[in-house]
Amino acid sequence: MTTIQVGDQTFQLYLSETDISARVKALAEILNTDYQGKNPLFIGILNGVFMFIADLFKHLTIDAELGFVRLSSYQGMQSSGDLHQKMGLDKDLANRDVIVVDDIIDTGNTLSKFVADLQRNYPTARIKVLTLLSKPSARKVAFEADYVGFEIPNVFVVGYGLDYDECGRQWPAIYQLYSNSE
Ligand code: 5GP
Ligand code: MG
Repeated sequence: MTTIQVGDQTFQLYLSETDISARVKALAEILNTDYQGKNPLFIGILNGVFMFIADLFKHLTIDAELGFVRLSSYQGMQSSGDLHQKMGLDKDLANRDVIVVDDIIDTGNTLSKFVADLQRNYPTARIKVLTLLSKPSARKVAFEADYVGFEIPNVFVVGYGLDYDECGRQWPAIYQLYSNSE
């Protein structure tokens, strides 16, 4: 079994680089169709989204703009529930097609608050949400993305941009916390 070490934890392969790239390409093709003739603004949520959004953009054929925000609600492996915006947006979203892009939706706290704030500040923006990963069974608030790469169980994952205490982001595949029982 393929395992990696990140900090003090061992992780095992969960989604291969091939599985991820096929799904990312498929998502881009769906967006190319849904946003044909439009000029959507993608808003990536740093840091976890950097690898996903870079790969996604390589397959876009539509005109698309890109911006980033930096939010944080996580410490270690736990969501703290409080949302801090550490880096803001320098774009006007009025009357725009906007696609908020995240790496993973866990409790739903981060994105539900962020999207509600955006919609309040820009009532005319047409906002959709894209996430690479979603853990439906971990939700604490009702929230679902419009576009989901993979639905996964409530396991902690790293790699492909996702970190464990800021490390492990560089791996091209996605790994879950190693468990001896499997
Ligand atoms: P939420 O607010 O939905 O609970 O969590 C949002 C953020 O927590 C995600 O954007 C991500 O940065 C982080 N997060 C949630 N689950 C995981 C996970 O399994 N692994 C890693 N590395 N980060 C996670
Ligand atoms: Mg994130």
